Amino acid sequence: MKEALLYQKLANDEVRCNLCNHFCVLKDSELGICGCRKNVKGILMSLSYGQLITESLDPIEKKPIFNFLPGTSSYSIATVGCNLRCDNCQNWQISQFTKDHDSPFPGYETSSQEVIERAQESGAQSISYTYTEPTIFMEFALDCMKLAHDKNLKNIWVSNGYMSRACLELILPYLDAINIDLKFFDNNNYLKYCGCKLQPILDNLKYLHQHQVHLEITTLLIPNHTDTGNQLTSMAEFIAQKLSVNVPWHLSRFSPDISYKMPDTKATPMSLIDQAYKIGQSKGLNFIYVGNVADDERENTYCPRCGFLAIKRQDYQTEIFADNGLCKNCKYEIY
Ligand code: SF4
Ligand code: SF4
Repeated sequence: MKEALLYQKLANDEVRCNLCNHFCVLKDSELGICGCRKNVKGILMSLSYGQLITESLDPIEKKPIFNFLPGTSSYSIATVGCNLRCDNCQNWQISQFTKDHDSPFPGYETSSQEVIERAQESGAQSISYTYTEPTIFMEFALDCMKLAHDKNLKNIWVSNGYMSRACLELILPYLDAINIDLKFFDNNNYLKYCGCKLQPILDNLKYLHQHQVHLEITTLLIPNHTDTGNQLTSMAEFIAQKLSVNVPWHLSRFSPDISYKMPDTKATPMSLIDQAYKIGQSKGLNFIYVGNVADDERENTYCPRCGFLAIKRQDYQTEIFADNGLCKNCKYEIY
């Protein structure tokens, strides 16, 4: 537990948390929506600081990050907790723990120095703040990120994108890459299935792109949820027109069996993946990838100019054919 960053003291020992776009106002002894920050007598405390629930060495492709340090390992850490409550969540046992249990904050105490040492020993080239939502353990992530850069390790966030602008400004100097979920392109869907709004996420995507952080986007294709109306077309247009055709778009397959509250929704049919892929192509996106699908050539990276194979991927194994990011065939610089 540590005093939080990014909060304001209000009258009568109330506080306003400025870490994410919920901007919770908390009376003494109250917890925020995330269940990870608590008003203790007018001081906002981060309960998740240094309380890791898991850490492991993963292929960077598992984040998924495909166009940054391909073929390397990333030391991945998480605490419990999340500021959203997505019905589709696949890590709900840890992301929703603080909302489903009335118990002391779980996890094993770890220092930022220990995280860096273990990452170095593991041979990783980066640290990923992932599995749950790094925003809710931002203070601990930030301490790790500073140390990581001192040791030439890159920092990667895997996020829902609902952090505040103030949070982004704090982490930006140390953030090398980020994958953000774009779950829907419909505010009502975001409100109903995740408990948040769409616009702050779009604003953050634009901000990150403008500040040249390596950005990738993941969309979980939930049948009859993600594909209703023009959502997929609007997403692809947003990426192409407001960000860049070079921002990778990961189209991920949904599995009801591991979802938090969607056991009766069907798994993503291949036809929906094909449809979304074609929409991305029609809007000119250069890097569209399919996820949670076995043996599919659309996991590979191809040169956007000549179509030559640049990176082959299978079961998180990668084979790189590009030369220092240049296409072997036409020398085009691949994002
Ligand atoms: S991080 Fe977000 S959800 Fe948690 S207390 Fe702060 S504003 Fe509320
Ligand atoms: S899917 Fe991501 S953002 Fe949603 S509840 Fe799970 S961890 Fe949080």
